[in-house]
Amino acid sequence: RPEQATADALAARGIPARTVDGFLRPLLAALLCDPELTTSSRGADLALRAFAGGRLSVPEGGAAVLPELLARALPPGTVRTGVRVTSVSTTSVTTAEHGVLRCRAVLLATDARAAAELLPGLRVPDFHPVTVVHHTTDDPGPALSTGPSLLLDADRGGPVAHTAVLSDVDPSRAPAGRTLISSTVLGTPPDDVDAAVRAHLARLYGTPTNRWETLAVHHTPDAVPATRPAYDPHRPVRLLAGLYVCGDHRDTPTLQGALHSATRATTAILTDLGATTPMHLADPPASMPRAA
Ligand SMILES: Cc1cc2nc3c(=O)[nH]c(=O)nc-3n(C[C@H](O)[C@H](O)[C@H](O)COP(=O)(O)OP(=O)(O)OC[C@H]3O[C@@H](n4cnc5c(N)ncnc54)[C@H](O)[C@@H]3O)c2cc1C
Repeated sequence: RPEQATADALAARGIPARTVDGFLRPLLAALLCDPELTTSSRGADLALRAFAGGRLSVPEGGAAVLPELLARALPPGTVRTGVRVTSVSTTSVTTAEHGVLRCRAVLLATDARAAAELLPGLRVPDFHPVTVVHHTTDDPGPALSTGPSLLLDADRGGPVAHTAVLSDVDPSRAPAGRTLISSTVLGTPPDDVDAAVRAHLARLYGTPTNRWETLAVHHTPDAVPATRPAYDPHRPVRLLAGLYVCGDHRDTPTLQGALHSATRATTAILTDLGATTPMHLADPPASMPRAA
């Protein structure tokens, strides 16, 4: 199919307006974190394909669980956190806390902006901002009985793009005995985001929200790299022998994209190093500091 902005592709495909405005537009805005649907139609097709073939899900316990599980599969001490990298080369990583670490290859796995600061030739994309507002209540009432569903606002009657009673999806995320409602604002949030979100949620759930407690408001200006046409989901990950880059800015702007780009990059590293044995056998002795 020809590549277009998603909004244009939806208009061109002959899908009834009711289906587009009532379901596809708000669903794609949520999946792509892009309220104007300027994203490449190829990204939208991929997102819809994943949505149709699987189910919406969140990692039990929070987003940090996924990297913790991945790190747990590695030999102890392989990963160090809380270390800030200040420069990289093909043979070394300089850190703010531990000085220079020597190495045989460097894979830079930061967000796009940090990657371009460390390797100035890299392109910095535009980003879609995302704001997430978490509320709790000890009095859910019958109105909060949407179950583990994602509630989309097709009417665009306020700042909330989508919301869910997250304690029904993953009880471990909620404070004990309380209901957790997590709501997402796409694009630039209004000045008093909490008040505007509460008013909108009162209409969406059909229940007063003025006694709800605000647990947290997280605004991430660089949440998701924008992928307008012409969009290349296989941006190079091998910059030169010994220097590699991965992350959501090299692939689709999703967790899957970040992981897929990492697979491409590590495959290139193993090939360049001629590695035929598992990488951890090539690690330096335990007494030496190791790069994360
Ligand atoms: C609110 C929100 C909701 C989202 N929801 C979804 C979703 O439902 N599904 C989905 O697929 N995606 C979602 N995303 C997008 C997803 O989080 C990203 O695409 C993904 O995290 C990208 O992974 P990454 O490894 O490329 O980069 P990041 O997750 O940004 O990781 C980069 C890491 O590099 C570290 N770093 C940066 N600079 C340095 C430095 N100098 N030295 C050392 N470390 C450094 C950072 O601290 C960070 O830990 C969401 C994003 C946000 C903000």
